[in-house]
Amino acid sequence: MSTEAPVASTSALVGGKAVPQQPVYCAVCSFPPEYCEFGAKKAKCMSWLEENHPALFAKYYSESALEDKLAHLTVDQRKALEKDLAKKEKKEEAKAEKEKAKMSSAKVVVKRMERSKKKYVTSVHGLHHFNVDMKKAAKLFANKFGAGATVSKTPQGEDEILIQGDVGDDVEEMLLERNEKKLVDVFGGKITEDQISVIIEEPKKKTAATIAAAAAALVPAQGTNH
Ligand SMILES: [Zn+2]
Repeated sequence: MSTEAPVASTSALVGGKAVPQQPVYCAVCSFPPEYCEFGAKKAKCMSWLEENHPALFAKYYSESALEDKLAHLTVDQRKALEKDLAKKEKKEEAKAEKEKAKMSSAKVVVKRMERSKKKYVTSVHGLHHFNVDMKKAAKLFANKFGAGATVSKTPQGEDEILIQGDVGDDVEEMLLERNEKKLVDVFGGKITEDQISVIIEEPKKKTAATIAAAAAALVPAQGTNH
């Protein structure tokens, strides 16, 4: 006990003697509570301190403590400090908000495509929004369906999984599963139903269009003069 750390500590009176306890570090910003006000999460820091160390909270945030501190600042310094803090907090909030919006607007698109008559491939795209490990996911699908499942890149350079077979509804069920640990571990257990679109690619339209295009191309080549 030779060095006294310049950090906040709670102390208790035991038998008339003050017994120093563990130094306290803020669980929100990791600084000693007296430095919380310089962090970007001051509001959160304050409520954490109030809840967990009411004595320290009173010490640092009681009106007299604040007045004492502010008394040493000029009006301009005080204003600058408040402005700076408000800015930092706003930035932090905007960041959290953005992250949340990104997650909630993310979509997984499960699409069934007909490769040849009655032969289907199901593609699963958008799992990267949810930080899913693609290889592990492909392996889960392969095991579940006893069919080939591979990770492939879209033209945009994003990962998607291609599964042999018409398994869209089962894939959706797997993504929504919350009780099977194996699945939750890989898919995160956070994808909601309205974040999944199951699409069936219409093969007829495509085929008709392809035939029409092919026919149109053939007409001048074959000629019409017999
Ligand atoms: Zn803090």
